Amino acid sequence: MSDSFFANTELIGLIGHPIKHSYSPFIQNFALEAMGVDGVYLPFDVVAENLKNAVTSVLALGLKGLNVTLPHKEKIIKYLDELSEEASIIGAVNTVVNDHGKLIGYNTDANGIFETLLPFKDKITGTKVSVIGAGGSARAVIYTLLRYFKPEEINIINRTQQRADTLMNYFSLKMRYDSFHTFELFPPDNVEVLSSSRLIINSTTIGMYPDVEDTITDLDDSFNEDQIVFDLIYNPKKTKLLQMAEEQGVKVVGGMTMLISQAAKSFKLWTDVEMPVSEITKKLEDYISKIPGNLP
Ligand code: NAP
Repeated sequence: MSDSFFANTELIGLIGHPIKHSYSPFIQNFALEAMGVDGVYLPFDVVAENLKNAVTSVLALGLKGLNVTLPHKEKIIKYLDELSEEASIIGAVNTVVNDHGKLIGYNTDANGIFETLLPFKDKITGTKVSVIGAGGSARAVIYTLLRYFKPEEINIINRTQQRADTLMNYFSLKMRYDSFHTFELFPPDNVEVLSSSRLIINSTTIGMYPDVEDTITDLDDSFNEDQIVFDLIYNPKKTKLLQMAEEQGVKVVGGMTMLISQAAKSFKLWTDVEMPVSEITKKLEDYISKIPGNLP
């Protein structure tokens, strides 16, 4: 690829901390090349105190846009000129487009969550759902559930219950929904809450590589056969939580579809070109399987 950068090559960045293990550079650079778009996607490890300067440099250096990952998804909002309706309701941004000097924030995680859960829509609507986590991705999860899947009840379970309460109050007001309950993540106390949910979504970092033996619950009683368990984590492909749930006959889904779907929507926003999703999924799975230390 190095012989294909020219003066007018578009630059797209990824900012976050840490970002060493992100698959986004692989996905986006593969897509740029596959679709013949003259661009390059570069990761920048940006710590919190440099966030404002990093955003300002998008304009100064003329980048086409950014992906934003933890811990900046919420804090970046104050430095942007405009938000999409979704990003504004969710209160978190994972994609920035530099539209002729105006920085517009989007949340394409919601698209990834929607695409992942769509095959289960009929099973989810009108039922009880448990969301573990209260960070940036939990916000996108709750928005997507309320907007497209209409659950009867949402339990927000988080290590810091106060953050779960904050999320409950925020979405109760923003989306006029009053069937939330919050709990502290404190196994085994949550077994009853989990086992009575049709859908369990892990939107925490628990179980993410390298801490692959960690799980939000280690009790088989947390599951029932009619359930769906969705773990946003994509490395490993099947977390300990998903392995345990699958052993109990539960339908399980990992974070790979979400990863590719959010990437595809961001790609379209920057380039106006569709990402070749199935080709990229195959390439990414192959790439991941060859990374030393990664689980198959
Ligand atoms: P975040 O904003 O930093 O939130 C992290 C969440 O994890 C918080 O709820 C935090 O609880 C909880 N947590 C962290 N360490 C914990 C521990 N040791 N014990 C209990 N709870 C813990 O992160 P995020 O952006 O929401 O991302 C969360 C996960 O989603 C990550 O694994 C990320 O890779 C994944 N994700 C996947 C995709 C995809 O495309 N598949 C997209 C976005 C995110 P406290 O509130 O108590 O700190």
